[in-house]
Amino acid sequence: MKIKALGVNGAFTKNYHNNFVFEMGERTLLVDAGTTLRYSLSDAGFKETDITDIIITHLHSDHVGGLEEFAQRCKWIFNHKPNLWVRGKMKAQLEEVIEKGLCTDGLTLNDYFNIYTCETGARNSFNIGNHQIELIDTDNLHSEGMLSMGLKITLENGHNVIYTSDIAKHQLAGFKDAIDERTSVLFHDVSMVENPVHSYIEDVVEHYKDVIAPHRIFAMHYQDETDLVELQQTYGISVVTTDHGYIV
Ligand SMILES: [Zn+2]
Repeated sequence: MKIKALGVNGAFTKNYHNNFVFEMGERTLLVDAGTTLRYSLSDAGFKETDITDIIITHLHSDHVGGLEEFAQRCKWIFNHKPNLWVRGKMKAQLEEVIEKGLCTDGLTLNDYFNIYTCETGARNSFNIGNHQIELIDTDNLHSEGMLSMGLKITLENGHNVIYTSDIAKHQLAGFKDAIDERTSVLFHDVSMVENPVHSYIEDVVEHYKDVIAPHRIFAMHYQDETDLVELQQTYGISVVTTDHGYIV
């Protein structure tokens, strides 16, 4: 699996939002579609038609603000209809965000996407191509009152990648339990300063130290001005950048 970060910074970044593309053989999964997607996708070398599947982890604009435009471009320029995996509990809210722009002239969301309903938890895992996707519930653990989730992607060879998306109270989330000896990478929301909606770097390192080697923790969603060399040297963790892809 090839993994490309379209952006790695926070909501108020001067750069691109923390959205990722997972290339999984025949299928290519876009995780989150922020308002910078119209630039970040093409800068990373992708076309709209490359994206076969989409998962939106939560409804902050740096994760969903570009979805309506993406859908419009897919339909009207490329006649391309990707799969949209929507968590049942989030469906009404997601529809509310994108429907007003998309559902005009008698159109419904089904004219833009093949919509599949999915749920969190290991027993509700589903497959995209030959990769297994488990959604990990983080409701209220990023922002109070917000539905949100992370992902565990298991490859055909049994190795897996865990992706927190935005998270603050990671100690209460299921990520640590989801880590096993076949976890290659933990992509984790990391903040250099203590704050209520993102995980503080020192807490992240401390929390996972008994289940995964620090170099397998890849920091993302960090502040624009973060000194990446210092971050790696101080904590022994890795840092995601948009400079290159990652192969797992
Ligand atoms: Zn967020």
